[in-house]
Amino acid sequence: PEPRPEDAVPDAGSPDHVLLRRIGRVDPLSLDDYRSAGGYAALREALRLGPAGVIREVTDSGLVGRGGAAFPTGRKWNATAQQPDTPHYLVCNADESEPGTFKDRVLMEGDPFSVVEAMTIAGYAIGARTGYLYIRGEYPRALLHLENALSLARERGLLGTDIMGSGFSFDIEIRRGAGAYICGEETAIFGSIEGQRGEPRTKPPFPVEKGLFGKPTTVNNVETLVNVLPVLLMGGPAYAAVGTSGSTGPKLFCLSGGVRRPGLYELPFGATLGDLIEAAGGPPEGRSIRAVLLGGAAGTFVRADELDIPLTFEGARAAGASLGSGVVLVLDDTADLPAILARVAAFFRDESCGQCVPCRVGTVRQEESLLRLRSGASPAQEIPLLREVGRAMRDASICGLGQTAWNAVESAIDRLGLYSEDGPATENPAPGGTATPAPG
Ligand code: NAD
Ligand code: SF4
Repeated sequence: PEPRPEDAVPDAGSPDHVLLRRIGRVDPLSLDDYRSAGGYAALREALRLGPAGVIREVTDSGLVGRGGAAFPTGRKWNATAQQPDTPHYLVCNADESEPGTFKDRVLMEGDPFSVVEAMTIAGYAIGARTGYLYIRGEYPRALLHLENALSLARERGLLGTDIMGSGFSFDIEIRRGAGAYICGEETAIFGSIEGQRGEPRTKPPFPVEKGLFGKPTTVNNVETLVNVLPVLLMGGPAYAAVGTSGSTGPKLFCLSGGVRRPGLYELPFGATLGDLIEAAGGPPEGRSIRAVLLGGAAGTFVRADELDIPLTFEGARAAGASLGSGVVLVLDDTADLPAILARVAAFFRDESCGQCVPCRVGTVRQEESLLRLRSGASPAQEIPLLREVGRAMRDASICGLGQTAWNAVESAIDRLGLYSEDGPATENPAPGGTATPAPG
């Protein structure tokens, strides 16, 4: 049988869940179920508060974006709402494509009405009448569940004209991606929706000023939007009391690789990386942790002796890492790091849109060099070349893809001690080879 959304949540049904509280507990196709489990109470509260009141609560909550960049949501909404140019648009970024990320899929499949309700609230706050939900093409079940949710919400007056008798009118259109990772970049989404090539645009101007169709636009990740529901139900200040001062509220973490119970976990910000791995049962019997890739392909490797890193945006940053969208890939002592790096490099080479030279050429050169290293080339020659290419990509690429394409490689070299610049490869490239212990 096809796996259910709750199969990805090892502790589904936990009373501690806020964002995942309905996953596996309500029928994702039933609006009645959603309403009896608290659905649409947040929209009612939003309509009572008015747009400025909603923005005030979201600002007070300290909510920051969950797509990976942690930009303050209240600031983004306010900046869009203030723009004199009209119309304003809302875009829900559901093009979840970071390798290892599956949190938005679970929310959309298992609790689709929450995404629709949260988009309606965001549209109300920023003064939009139309919201676009840009969904990854490889998520067919999420698409079906969302289409069903949209049509039931329209039937019941929760979308369309005069929502809940408030005079506010708003509707949502779905657009499907077609397999390009870069179309998850917020400005590339605009091109894709507008019928052009999905290529990132230079920022500034930021979308809040000049976004979809050149109009003021708020782009929010699915998880960010779903957080707005507890913000309104609890009140901004109460929400801000959860987590840490720099990273408020609950957070979803996608745990995969060398742990006994991989899956989607919800924890308040502030737990450590070690706490999360322990919640997932730790490494399999007889294995030990070699490293953790934090933040996905664009993220950073950290060592097994760094598991006390707090899982907060500021804690990860202070440790020279990045939380990104909450991807945690655990590598045990059997992991073939050179192969993993080559795979990461191939991914970026493949997904680069090719618009700017540092990324288009740099991702190719990076992969070539890593493949030469795997075949036994001298690190003394290859590592300086990798550093030069990496610097050029980071400093001169237009968008996040090129700017972060060297992160994992750099951290594997500098943090894990993979390949030393003055000797032969420090790890046996063959699977099952003996790994050299990481430097302390
Ligand atoms: P960014 O820092 O450029 O922007 C973050 C958000 O804040 C954007 O919406 C941007 O428009 C807005 N913003 C920034 N400065 C602003 C200002 N002065 N005024 C108004 N708005 C402003 O980051 P980004 O390139 O949008 O995203 C990068 C992140 O995306 C990375 O952290 C990466 O982890 C993540 N990512 C996630 C996935 C996924 O599948 N979830 C995939 C790839 C990348
Ligand atoms: Fe395209 Fe890469 Fe340039 Fe981004 S950095 S615009 S993905 S070529």
